Amino acid sequence: MNDLFPSTIEDVYEKGIERIIFFYRMSIANGKGKLYVAFSGGKDSVAIYGLCRSAASKLGIDIFDMCEFHYHITCVDPPELVQFIKKEFPFVLRDRPKETMWQLIEKKQMPPTRLVRYCCQALKEGGGKNRFCVTGVRWAESSRRKNTRGELEIYAPSAKDKRILNADNEEDRRLIEHCLQKRKYICNPIVDWSDEQVWGFIRKEHLPYCELYDQGKKRLGCIGCPMAGREQRIKDFEKYPKFKDAYIRAFDRMLENRRKSGLETEWKTGNEVMEWWISK
Ligand code: SF4
Repeated sequence: MNDLFPSTIEDVYEKGIERIIFFYRMSIANGKGKLYVAFSGGKDSVAIYGLCRSAASKLGIDIFDMCEFHYHITCVDPPELVQFIKKEFPFVLRDRPKETMWQLIEKKQMPPTRLVRYCCQALKEGGGKNRFCVTGVRWAESSRRKNTRGELEIYAPSAKDKRILNADNEEDRRLIEHCLQKRKYICNPIVDWSDEQVWGFIRKEHLPYCELYDQGKKRLGCIGCPMAGREQRIKDFEKYPKFKDAYIRAFDRMLENRRKSGLETEWKTGNEVMEWWISK
């Protein structure tokens, strides 16, 4: 197989497995133990699970001796997704964030927006400190990721100094090998996969996937996520009215907080905030 230009779909999948094996060996060599695998229940996470399973089998070890799967409870994930994870992946550890989405809205005194996505950092990206983490991040999910995300990433403790590395590159390999203990390492084994390649792998490996995809969803994420299109958010709130009500109540408390802090606001009620929020 040519590492730089995989020629067949099998090569692409094999390269994903090799990335995980390389990363696991790095984790063990650095005394960090099992890989910390971020698992959201979406198709990319399912594919990552399949790759980890194949990597463990290739190494002749139990997948649970190699990987620890973590789901971050956002409290705004679709119920079908939460049930899917519980049923099909009962071994996934459920991590509770310090604050819920509702508490974050109150505290930040504004709803999360496309430009200010404080919720992702607080609800989804906090875990795995001082560990070797595997994620299902892909360039195909957002054009911005082409410049900001890579196959391997190292975060310094200050979080400002970040390097994107390539496991095929000898110099980069040496760098990751010599990095300081306290850094956070991230491997994105399917960063360069297309949607078709993800689905092809899921079908090939007979992996389960959430029923919401068969109902027309292309991406699964939090209900009301500002990154979803307007139409999608309206549909979601029609389907899950209790979540819409919970957002409105959180917006009411947020407005109360803004008043107490002396922040100017044109909104009078949580309902008005919701209307503005969806229209954006
Ligand atoms: S997926 Fe959307 S709503 Fe959920 S945490 Fe990230 S930005 Fe916020």
